[in-house]
Amino acid sequence: VNFPDYSGYPVFQEFDMPPLPKRKVSSARRDKRRAHDALKVTHFVQCSNCGEMRLPHRVCPNCGHYQGKEIIEVKED
Ligand SMILES: [Zn+2]
Repeated sequence: VNFPDYSGYPVFQEFDMPPLPKRKVSSARRDKRRAHDALKVTHFVQCSNCGEMRLPHRVCPNCGHYQGKEIIEVKED
């Protein structure tokens, strides 16, 4: 029987391996990678208007001021 010459054609996909890591990541290497994953405590700055602690670059939730101006009205209960 005369088979056609497939030597120039790529191998069919079902015979290929999926992309896999070449070697196992050791537990030490994995844990070292995760050493920086813990969330840090957010730092606060003091509001220049009311002195309350607030997040930097945010309107003060206590008095509604930002950069010396009242941006939002704060409802008091
Ligand atoms: Zn404030």
